[in-house]
Amino acid sequence: MSAALNKVEDLWFPDGNVIIRVGDRVCRVYKGFLASQSSVLADMFSIPQPPHGEDMMHGTDVMDALPVVALPDPQEEVTHWLRAMFLPGDFEAHPTPVGSSQLLAVLRLSHKYDVQYLRRRALVHLAACFPTDVDGVQDISLNWTSQVNNIQLQGAESPVAFDARVYTVANEIGALWLVPFTVYAMHTDTWTSTYAIDDIVNSDCAISLTLVVRLYKIANLVQQHFPVGFVSGFSDSECAHDSLCKDYERRRQCDTIEALQVIPLTYYSRSSEGHHMANDICPACCRIMLEQYSDACMMFWEELPATLELPSWQDLLAIKARDLDAPRA
Ligand SMILES: [Zn+2]
Repeated sequence: MSAALNKVEDLWFPDGNVIIRVGDRVCRVYKGFLASQSSVLADMFSIPQPPHGEDMMHGTDVMDALPVVALPDPQEEVTHWLRAMFLPGDFEAHPTPVGSSQLLAVLRLSHKYDVQYLRRRALVHLAACFPTDVDGVQDISLNWTSQVNNIQLQGAESPVAFDARVYTVANEIGALWLVPFTVYAMHTDTWTSTYAIDDIVNSDCAISLTLVVRLYKIANLVQQHFPVGFVSGFSDSECAHDSLCKDYERRRQCDTIEALQVIPLTYYSRSSEGHHMANDICPACCRIMLEQYSDACMMFWEELPATLELPSWQDLLAIKARDLDAPRA
């Protein structure tokens, strides 16, 4: 064996019958098992191997008298993915926590090599944190702690850098139903904190021109649907505060315009007990305001896919249902 190649200890089974090489790392695993999981690897294994004796440093076709299959993917991704298949408990189903890099590696390679059950398992993890409706967005924001606990960010990775990686992988594998929320989340993290854009630029994925344009478009959509005074149709006759509520609310939106345009979908909480509501406008105005707010959220969300030049929600949800569907017997 060449000294330049490093065995991956926990993926080196002494009776394994195929060597997977990625960069300078080698794993000794089971060909028949891999072929049963991955139709793409099954096809690769079926290609006849060259005769024994190829130069390890050049051809790398045989090692320890076993066939060597070189994969072109990043080393870290391949080892995460092989561990998910070969090491029990390494990549459990939701809600067991998973690492962010592990999750995206398993998702990307399971898609590429057609390991459907792991692709689905990874997407179920993401579906729990990347909602496709307004209720889901509001639940996530109420429950932020458990969200980050389910998917453990790696090292110094920021949420916005993770969102950017999810955005990239979702586009790559066609899980487009993840895209609206990733763009919304990146908008909330960058709109008034432009330094956070550096986190996207410096994340593992290359920021694309399309993403920059989408961030611009979603910011425009926010301003269309949530301008100051967007909830102002209060009824004078029902107001218990001599019609002062609408002026009060307009002033508050003006004072907190930054929050309104950064987190439009969670600016008001669902109940009148939320901190934005206090008791400073009367119950009748509060009820009308929450109705108008809910309508604005729904319209914004409904228009979001078209604004981002994505398929309609109906089509996106059909893709999601197919992606998360349990295997058929
Ligand atoms: Zn009132």
